[in-house]
Amino acid sequence: MIDAILDRALIGKDLSPAEGVVLLQQRDQQAIAQIRATADRLRQLQAGETVTYVINRNLNFTNICEQHCNFCAFRRDEGEAGAFWLDRSQILEKVADGVRRGATEICMQGGLNLKAKLQGSSLAYYQGLIRTIKSAFPQLHLHAFSPQEVQFIAREDGLTYAEVIAALRDAGVGSLPGTAAEVLDDRVRRILCPEKINTATWLEIVSTAHQQGLRTTSTMLSGHIETPEQQIQHLDLLRRLQQASLHKGYEGITEFILLPFVGQEAPKPLRRRVGRDQPVLSDALLLMAVARIFLGRWIPNHQPSWVKLGLAGAIDALTWGCNDIGGTLMEEHITSMAGAQGGTCMEVETLQAAISDLGRPYQQRDTVYRTLSAVGSR
Ligand code: SF4
Repeated sequence: MIDAILDRALIGKDLSPAEGVVLLQQRDQQAIAQIRATADRLRQLQAGETVTYVINRNLNFTNICEQHCNFCAFRRDEGEAGAFWLDRSQILEKVADGVRRGATEICMQGGLNLKAKLQGSSLAYYQGLIRTIKSAFPQLHLHAFSPQEVQFIAREDGLTYAEVIAALRDAGVGSLPGTAAEVLDDRVRRILCPEKINTATWLEIVSTAHQQGLRTTSTMLSGHIETPEQQIQHLDLLRRLQQASLHKGYEGITEFILLPFVGQEAPKPLRRRVGRDQPVLSDALLLMAVARIFLGRWIPNHQPSWVKLGLAGAIDALTWGCNDIGGTLMEEHITSMAGAQGGTCMEVETLQAAISDLGRPYQQRDTVYRTLSAVGSR
């Protein structure tokens, strides 16, 4: 049965959600090997042999957050041990460090800090963050603020999503992370992140960003309480959103990133329910392969998370449909505070060497997948 499904995928047909679920439910090793080979072939056809990477610096400006997502070990209340809210000079110091180390991108997200609005308005606080960075380093691409942060600003200031996104864009944001998606199913969201935006709002904000001329990434937080049906529903919603954006002439989603759940330091109820602390690599690899097959030509770039899977796991994913190894990050809080063992910083040379060991060439890219270096190999 899966032969016919995989053959249809190889000639460029969009699979139905039911076909996607069939692929995800395979347990036979021969069938899984066929799925892997199909994903790898589609990766060759859609993205080529070269593995890309971006030199970026992660910047979390605060972990003070009004919400209490059940997987989050990063958030703090104001005044709690470990709470932080960076000031302008601390932000500039971190960005300058990134620039010294060759960063072309600052990836910036933070908790939902109700005190932001005391600096004039919430929007003014976020615009101030952007201007602080862009006035000192105008060449940097700011990949900043999740759909959840956009909704937070809009709610606090009584603005529409389009008004918030246009203002962030005009201040210097270059693209939006497609985070806060978790699993786009409201039954899952009610358990995982009950205070977060719902599925419809996430989709609305991401498509509004596309309409406002900003590209976004797309993500899925996998491997907790969701079912294969819900995983495929998530991919189907991303595919539909991307199809609609491209049909309207927008550039849409740049990439799909799978973020397997790390629960080691997560709040206890969810940790107990999931029953393990680290991702199951084989589950993540199969899901990455199925994501490549299901998203097809609509989203050509697929990235594993070395923070969550470790570098060896992420390199393995490059043979399961992924074509990009992600960023150097330089500093990572959110997943490492959850207990991930993949590290928080990756040197360019380490990424290049690992890609070369796989027998594939490498190339530096920018945030929106324009190449920045010649293709290299060792
Ligand atoms: S995941 Fe984000 S929104 Fe949720 S509690 Fe953590 S910092 Fe706050």
